Amino acid sequence: MSDYDVVVIGGGSTGTAVARDCQIRGLKTLLLERDDIASGTVGTCAGMISSGLKYMNEPEIVDMCSSEVVHLKRIARHIIMKNPILTPMLEMSDLSSGGNFAEEYSKRAAEREVPPVMFLTPEDSLKIEPMLNPDIIASLYFEEYFIDPFRLCLLQAIDAKRRGADIRTYCEVTNIIVQDGRVTGVEFFDRLTGRLESVSTRIVVNATGPWAEKVAALAGMPLELRLNKGAHVILDRRVVNVGVIAKAVDGRMIYLFPHENTVVLGTTALDTWEDPDSVRASHDEIEYLLKSMEWVVPSIREARVVRAMEGIRPLVADWKIPEGDVTRGYRIMDHAGDGGEGMISFTGGKLVMCRHMAESVTDIICEKLGVERECRTHLEPLPGNEDDVDVLALASEYGMSAHVVERMRARRGTEVRAVLELTRDRPNWKTKICTCEPVIEAEIRYSIRHEFPQTVDDLRRRLRIGTGPCQGTFCTYKAAAILAEELGLTGQQYLHEVLSYLAERWKGKRPPMRGGQLPLEEMAQGMYACVANLDHTGPPRERQPWEEV
Ligand SMILES: Cc1cc2nc3c(=O)[nH]c(=O)nc-3n(C[C@H](O)[C@H](O)[C@H](O)COP(=O)(O)OP(=O)(O)OC[C@H]3O[C@@H](n4cnc5c(N)ncnc54)[C@H](O)[C@@H]3O)c2cc1C
Repeated sequence: MSDYDVVVIGGGSTGTAVARDCQIRGLKTLLLERDDIASGTVGTCAGMISSGLKYMNEPEIVDMCSSEVVHLKRIARHIIMKNPILTPMLEMSDLSSGGNFAEEYSKRAAEREVPPVMFLTPEDSLKIEPMLNPDIIASLYFEEYFIDPFRLCLLQAIDAKRRGADIRTYCEVTNIIVQDGRVTGVEFFDRLTGRLESVSTRIVVNATGPWAEKVAALAGMPLELRLNKGAHVILDRRVVNVGVIAKAVDGRMIYLFPHENTVVLGTTALDTWEDPDSVRASHDEIEYLLKSMEWVVPSIREARVVRAMEGIRPLVADWKIPEGDVTRGYRIMDHAGDGGEGMISFTGGKLVMCRHMAESVTDIICEKLGVERECRTHLEPLPGNEDDVDVLALASEYGMSAHVVERMRARRGTEVRAVLELTRDRPNWKTKICTCEPVIEAEIRYSIRHEFPQTVDDLRRRLRIGTGPCQGTFCTYKAAAILAEELGLTGQQYLHEVLSYLAERWKGKRPPMRGGQLPLEEMAQGMYACVANLDHTGPPRERQPWEEV
């Protein structure tokens, strides 16, 4: 008898969706993630759950994306928002391609509860978004949905856990045991306890995105991906108030999306052979994005680039075609034919498809294990989506600003009340710890108690602390102090937390650091290195990356 029916490796959008589906269908499931939930590719993506029309030459992908948007809106509407988007046109040639898009998009618009595409005059376009280049000759208006990718992964993992799955973060799979042509177990290193452990299982699902080749190799299984890297740039203010999609210098489409008090500019797409663990956005990628968007939003250079992030798309290994022509669909590789019965890997796919990917693989697993249970992941709500939330009523009941409560609602839906309840006995927990987002102390404590974060960086993924214009300058030491109190960390561990988070933020701040961002970084360095004396604390230690300047 095995310890588990299924071991899922990888806690990104795919792995957490698979763990949830398997557990809902009654399979005893363990998910192993070597870092935190959503710490891989999914944490670097834009979160657009698009209608798929970028892939008009693959009608089955368009169909899948469209119906997945409908499912996600049913199960996770509290973490989804609709964004109006303008595609400004500067030349007559732009108009013809716009026509095809408008027709295809509008066919499925009603199903997704969005209006059909509209062609707007320059005057109407500028009324909607005054920051556009006044020389535009027309624009397309349409609407797309966005999901919080961190919360989606976390809620899938929490839902699986509440239904009985074991979710183990900071557990890196180091070996996959294959005996007589069958997978029988996995060995993993628990980074929290420092112990090597092993479990037996009937099925192993390799959902490790760009690391899938390496993980397949642990079982001696062949697997090939076409790795493709993409950069995003975060600007310190809302340069625009609606999404803008425009042609880049090479004719590709790029986007600028407002999010809270920042905007996200992306993305590049380059074949890469870099190690997914050390990939960074380059100066060329950042300039490519800024230069391209400058044509339609001339004021973009007035904003500060506070951060750049890079992720790797684990595309299907189609070669000798341009990257843009590689399918954005997914493949399921059953390694039975390679001498690894019970081991299954994914290649390709997107965030928007994660539930569909999970349904397909769980169907295969059920067939292998002789289990007859229908998929229900498109019907069962994720935690927090059980009911509507009256933000204004809650704000008035608990004496909080509606903005704070609304941001909290967008993360946790109906669970907002449980967070606010913590402030009844402790009104001081209404204090804003992260003022950019904003996040109050009660929510940080709630998250630590119920969402298994281990570090300040894990809190960032759950609550967006430290992701606004100040990039953690004013909240890191406070959030680390709360974490230390809740988890019972020592003073030395507290300092380690602060330094680790600053070093983590530094990775994204370093590539675009120039212009107006330099004085801000000087201030952050001054606060932490001089005022807090962090570079002279404790025994001699290695220089931190963020101390480079
Ligand atoms: C720049 C960019 C923008 C994108 N924008 C969008 C978008 O707007 N919409 C969309 O739908 N898609 C988008 N995508 C695609 C989407 O992000 C990915 O397809 C998807 O997130 C992949 O998720 P995943 O779970 O398969 O992989 P990942 O998120 O990479 O998860 C894999 C996990 O496996 C873990 N792991 C690796 N090795 C081990 C091991 N040995 N043991 C245990 N765990 C291990 C890693 O730590 C990681 O957490 C974008 C991608 C990029 C790069």
